[in-house]
Amino acid sequence: MSVSWLNIDCRHAQQLLSLQRDSRLNFLQSGRLRRHLRQCESCRRMEKQFDFLARAVKRLDQIRAPPPGRTHISSEFRCARACLT
Ligand SMILES: [Zn+2]
Repeated sequence: MSVSWLNIDCRHAQQLLSLQRDSRLNFLQSGRLRRHLRQCESCRRMEKQFDFLARAVKRLDQIRAPPPGRTHISSEFRCARACLT
């Protein structure tokens, strides 16, 4: 039994990796990608870089938009320090 229809090249795998970030892979695409990643070290590295970038972007978003409670906590902290000194 041939499974050549499951085989994809690196370029295709990397396209699927970027689609995967937005969770837009169907069952077949994700199967093809998993299979390719098992065989291909350079695409596995690429997947790790995608993960790293995704986390970095998430962190940047958090820095740009701090949760509303944060200023409150820091003003309480300043108050506590002022009371202690
Ligand atoms: Zn590859």
